[in-house]
Amino acid sequence: MLRILPIASGSTGNCMLVDVDGRKIMIDLGVPVKTLLKTLSDNAYSCRDVDAVLITHTHSDHVKGLDVCMKQIDAPIYMSSTSKGTLMMEQAIALLYGEKSEILQGLWVTAIRTSHDCPGSIGFRIETEDTCLGYITDLGVIPESTMELLFGSQCIVIESNHDVEMLRYGKYPFFLKKRILSEKGHLSNDACSEAIARFAERGTKNFLLAHLSRENNRPDLALDCARKATAGMNVQIEVLPVYGENIIEVSE
Ligand SMILES: [Zn+2]
Ligand SMILES: [Zn+2]
Repeated sequence: MLRILPIASGSTGNCMLVDVDGRKIMIDLGVPVKTLLKTLSDNAYSCRDVDAVLITHTHSDHVKGLDVCMKQIDAPIYMSSTSKGTLMMEQAIALLYGEKSEILQGLWVTAIRTSHDCPGSIGFRIETEDTCLGYITDLGVIPESTMELLFGSQCIVIESNHDVEMLRYGKYPFFLKKRILSEKGHLSNDACSEAIARFAERGTKNFLLAHLSRENNRPDLALDCARKATAGMNVQIEVLPVYGENIIEVSE
């Protein structure tokens, strides 16, 4: 059973609760505590339900609510050892890159290195015997080694950050355009769609497009691009809202 409660997605904040066969995992806490509490309670969850917290990296849109939110959450926090050092969080547990760790009984997490301009950035493969979720945002490229760690996921949350043309001709300053387009920046709709098609060939049926730029993308563009790349394949693709309200039930 896989239920996903998106709480926030994009450069203003990132946070998601995933309920994997009854185990509740929080991914990133880049939201004000008020937003977190409200979205959880609107969906019949609470901070007390959280069994573990996973942090992708230390950019503020992923951790700005971490300290305050952790006053409400009584659960272990996992991140890369580099992020642990950056955040000076002694109590955090370091995950080893590319290794499967059993963080809760019968639930394993693999930290997947991501190519991003923040040292120690990771994505995740979260799995039980029956269910498997992949999570990768904030990355400029997806190398083959990353693809391999995500093959076989039932659902993948993947960044579809920008439309290359909108970014190129948009109003961002040159240095920022260069950063976003670089190998350590963010994933374009085209690169995301290409990856989705390959994951779909390997059996993944559900995709959630995440971390869309408000300035350089539109939900319909991201969705069109991903749907074109998977035309004729049996897949479900949705765009995550900037602020989530409702649970997404992943059926197969
Ligand atoms: Zn981000
Ligand atoms: Zn980032």
